[in-house]
Parts: sequence; C-alpha cells; structure tokens
Amino acid sequence: MQRFENLIDGKLRPAASGKWMPSLDPYRNENWCEIPDSDQSDVNAAVAAARTAFGSSQWAGISATARGAMLRRAGDLISANAERLAELEVRDNGKLINEMLVQLKTIPQWFYYYGGLADKVEGGVLPIDKSDHFVFTTWEPLGVIAAITAWNSPLLLLAWKLAPGLAAGNTFVIKPSEYASASTIAFAELFEEAGFPAGVVNVVCGTGQGVGAPLVAHPDVAKIAFTGSDAAGKAINKAAAGDLKHVTLELGGKSPNIVFEDADLDAAAAGVASGIFAAAGQTCIAGSRLLLQRSVYDLFLSKIRELAEGVKIGDPLDPETQMGPLANLPHYQKVISCIADAKKEGAVVAFGGEPIKYATGGLFVQPTIFRDVDNASQLAQREIFGPVLAVIPFDDEADALRIANNSNYGLAAGVWTKDMPRAFRMSKGLQSGTVWINTYRALSFMAPFGGVKDSGLGRESGQDMIKSYMQVKTTWINNASERPANPFIMRLN
Ligand code: NAD
Repeated sequence: MQRFENLIDGKLRPAASGKWMPSLDPYRNENWCEIPDSDQSDVNAAVAAARTAFGSSQWAGISATARGAMLRRAGDLISANAERLAELEVRDNGKLINEMLVQLKTIPQWFYYYGGLADKVEGGVLPIDKSDHFVFTTWEPLGVIAAITAWNSPLLLLAWKLAPGLAAGNTFVIKPSEYASASTIAFAELFEEAGFPAGVVNVVCGTGQGVGAPLVAHPDVAKIAFTGSDAAGKAINKAAAGDLKHVTLELGGKSPNIVFEDADLDAAAAGVASGIFAAAGQTCIAGSRLLLQRSVYDLFLSKIRELAEGVKIGDPLDPETQMGPLANLPHYQKVISCIADAKKEGAVVAFGGEPIKYATGGLFVQPTIFRDVDNASQLAQREIFGPVLAVIPFDDEADALRIANNSNYGLAAGVWTKDMPRAFRMSKGLQSGTVWINTYRALSFMAPFGGVKDSGLGRESGQDMIKSYMQVKTTWINNASERPANPFIMRLN
C-alpha cells in the first residue's frame, strides 16, 4: 500500500514511533494508503524545525519581495501539478474530479495575490504630538503558525492560511485531517522546489488528540489557524488562551438559502441544489436550510425535487458524476444517523432519505429533502454536513429574517429576489459572515470569508488578512538633546 510521510525540516520521515494509520478510498470503501500516526515527539521536531527556520538568515534575512517571488513560483508549481494533486484528493475524500480541477486552477491565485501583497504591507510615520520624538510603525511576522485543517477541501483550506502566512514571513507546521492527508503532503513538497528553505513548511499527520492537541499546546507556536467543527474549534480556543496564542477559527454552518416569491425560480432552484448537493453537502457553506415563501412553496419544492432526482451519482473520477460518496466511514455513519433522527423527530421526507447500495460498496447517500421542517428541530439546527436539505416555509421578509437568524451558526446565507432594496435590507439584517444575493458558493482570494456566532472567529482571504499573520511594532526615537523634565512622570504631554 502506498505510504505518505511527514515532512519535517525538508525531509520526508515516518512517525518517530514507526506507527501508521490507514486512509480510506470512500468510493471503493477500501483502504488505499497509509499515513504516519504521529505524536508529541513528531510535533516537537516539526515545531523546532519551524522555529529555527523562522529565525534563519535564509528566511528572516530575505526581503519581502523575495518572499513574494517564492509564493508566485509556488503558485506556478501548484498549477503544473494540478491534475496529480486533484487525483490524490479525489482518491482520499471522494471529492469530484471536476470540482478538484477547478479548485486546483484557483488555489494558485491565493499564492499570486498574497505573493504580490508580501512587499506592500507598509508601516507609517506618525504625526506624533511630541515634537521631540520621531515615531514609526513596522509590521512583523508572528512566528510559527499551526495550520489545522478539515478533510473536505484540504488544499483549498490550507491555501487560505499558507499564502497570507508565508507572505507575512511566518513558518508553518500543518496538521491535515487524519481522513485526508495525502494531497497535503504532496502539496507541501512543492514549496521546497519553489525555493522556500527547509523547515518553513512542515507537515505532521495524525489524529486530533495525537497531533492537533500537542501542536495547539506547544509553547513555540504563535498562532493557530484552524478549520473544522465548532466543537474542536472551541476546545482549541480554550487551549490556546492559556498562553495567549493568536487564533482564527473557520467552523461549521447551517446556512439559510432564502427564496422569495419574486425570485427567478429556475436560477434559485439551481443555486439551492448546488448549495446542498454539490460535494454531497460536505461543505461548511452548505445551504442546508431552504427558507421558502409560502406562495411559491409547492411549485419551488417540485423544482428542487426534480433536480434531486436527476443528480448523477457515481465515480468521483468520472467527469459526468455530479455527486460522489461521503468522505469517510464515521462521517457516513453520522449522516445516516442524522437522517434517522430527523425521521424519528417526525420530519417528512420529500425525496431520498436512504443510503445507496452501490456496486463498489462506496459510501453513498441519496440526495435528501425534508419538507415542512420546524426551524427549532434538531434537523434545522444541527450541522449534518451531508446532502440533506431542510425546507422551512415563511410568510414575509420579517419572518424570513427571524427564522434565518434563529441558529447558533452564522457562516453564509443566500437570498433569491429581484427586489434590490429588499436584498440590501436582508444583507444588513442577516447574522452571517457572507451573504450571497442571487448566487451561492461564490468565493475569491479577494473576498474576506469567515463566520459569526458558532461559525468562527476572524476571517480568511482578502487584502487585510495578511495582517492577521502579523503584529505591529511602534518605535519611538528621542530627537531632543535635553533630559526629560521629570523622569518619574510618564511622557504623555
Ligand atoms: P474536526 O473538527 O473533527 O477536525 C478538523 C481538524 O482538527 C482535523 O485535522 C482534526 O484532526 C483536528 N482536531 C480535532 N480535534 C482537535 C483538537 N482538540 N485539537 C487540535 N486539533 C483537533 O472537523 P472535520 O470533521 O475534519 O471537518 C468538518 C467540519 O469542518 C465541519 O463542521 C465543517 O463545517 C467545518 N469546515 C469549516 C470550513 C470553514 O471555512 N468555515 C471549511 C470546511 C469545513
């Protein structure tokens, strides 16, 4: 069986303990590769390598312009290796090859964008209120960043952290999900080829408890950049508070897709279907609650049901496939039990609601629609992270807003209407990090992304986010030759 190794200080290595863990191909429901089952000693080695690289002349001593050039080379290498990386991810988590090729074409953009920004972070000279002082600010990197990622889009989620973090001059220890690590290792190897010194980008594979927790607790880690569940995110935030680490948390969602009666209903139906059935619903931004105005309820529901019926399920490597398997066995079991719980709660199935017995034994679940769902129910409140849509009726704009905001989450929301003043009012009223009007699942390296409430802390992407990997220093220079008037009083005047 193929083995992928940790990348520490520029060398591929097995775990110090020599232990391995299998990774599943969810389309065939069989283990296809092994990754190191690492522990504290591997974390220590990787953090030490990242710490040394952070202070080295080959990294700390080079200009931001040179760093930018390295990032752009990394972007070129990712493009050149797009197919190989895409296929690794498809094998490891069942994501569609079509989606992965688009992701891999787009991921370099984060490296080009932040490569361009690397030497444009300017401090300032302050028009200070003390004529005898000259004061300026400079932006400095934080140090070693721990990037911890989920299994659903390992490379995209990593690019959102790595590109701004490296542009800012930090070094990284990456902990990919134990359910999909292969593509991350192949991806990280490209950085040395792009000219990054050994130790700047390290990868340690293993479980959340075996590797993630010791990494979060490590005193030489300056920031945790995390993508995953809200439960793990909250535990990490607590652990990181002990020694005041910086934290960004990209967590889960239960995003409302809100369809008003005046919307272009066909466009809305396509948007709603892509919001919940694309990637088999395994995206943080899944539009898993469909809020539907009563006047178009039955008509729209029949459109969505028709789209669900037509979804082509199959081999994720086949470009014709529209929905692949769920990514791993524990997750497949979780989705099936969420559907069973919903039925027990009395929810009415409008389509699907069953696992699919597929020839390969793959982990497939039917695209599933529940109708007339109570927003207070578990089905409407819990993140399922599968192709399961809860349809909830509403009467008017105020009702839609009330239902949409009645959730612990606040990652994204979709609004479908031709009434632009209403679109603006909804955008203002929705408690959500992103609002899409007449579109869904649109993302860009230029657009800040992140959640409110239990969906997260901080943002990723966009121009300002390079500074979330930096801290500002203020330098005061005394130009006066005379001594301070009274050394026992602070210089406030
Ligand atoms: P998860 O929280 O189980 O695991 C995420 C990562 O954290 C894994 O690498 C895991 O090993 C590690 N981990 C788990 N417990 C840890 C701990 N105590 N300390 C340190 N590391 C720990 O999540 P998952 O099942 O891999 O991913 C699905 C979740 O990710 C969903 O909730 C989804 O919404 C969320 N997600 C969010 C975004 C976003 O950008 N907001 C994007 C993708 C996925």
